[in-house]
Amino acid sequence: MHRNTPGLTRRRVIQAGTALVAAAAVPGLSSAAMAASHTEMNNSIPSSSGKIDIMPVNHASLALVAPGLTLYSDPVGDPSLYADLPAPDLVLITHEHGDHFNTDTLRAITDSDTPLVVNPGVFAKLPSDLQSRATAIANNNMLLFGDMRINAIPAYNTSADRLQYHPQGRDNGYVLELDGTRVYIAGDTEDTPEMRALTGVDLAFVPMNLPYTMDIEQAASGVLAFAPKVIYPYHYRGSDLEAFKSMVDAGGKEIDVRLYDWYG
Ligand code: ZN
Ligand code: ZN
Repeated sequence: MHRNTPGLTRRRVIQAGTALVAAAAVPGLSSAAMAASHTEMNNSIPSSSGKIDIMPVNHASLALVAPGLTLYSDPVGDPSLYADLPAPDLVLITHEHGDHFNTDTLRAITDSDTPLVVNPGVFAKLPSDLQSRATAIANNNMLLFGDMRINAIPAYNTSADRLQYHPQGRDNGYVLELDGTRVYIAGDTEDTPEMRALTGVDLAFVPMNLPYTMDIEQAASGVLAFAPKVIYPYHYRGSDLEAFKSMVDAGGKEIDVRLYDWYG
């Protein structure tokens, strides 16, 4: 089959992977190409195939659209929210909470064979029709979806009074290696050692809300530690994003903080 045959999606096969090993930084992306317009929000990043478009939906739900591949992460809510987006070739789910996982939404916005990649906790909760097209991936493991690598990054609370929300070992974030970029979708987490140790991240989605994830000081500290080229605060209801951006900017690491209104 020709990779670029019109009308066919290029990635349909999920392969089980080996244990996650540290991945190298992505070479060759020019920082000049990353400069966002000051007058109009740039909701894309450059990639080896052209660009990746970022389509925030609401709260923790988003779509990424690359040439030949559309993926949704944690799609929940009314199906009409997704009506203007390309249909997904793949859906990622980080964990079982209702603001990340909803079987009615999944059935409404996917085809009967759209693959799902989920954490083991969600896999166990899926009804059989959805489970039959789902693949579970545990913390620190990886799998391949065509030529895209999906790494499951642990997502969990570290503060003593919040451990019950996201206990360590259960929930995923994801690092996607897609068209020469590394995209980190953090899920519901604090600034764990695993987050802080990430390298070579081109685009990140990081949560900040209490009590479920972390406050803006923690989030800024975590973001400065792994220094993505572009970061979208998401899952931030009630947080002071301007203050978050000021803290990140003050770190002097040339991180493009993109404040998008996810609740508008
Ligand atoms: Zn959660
Ligand atoms: Zn959440």
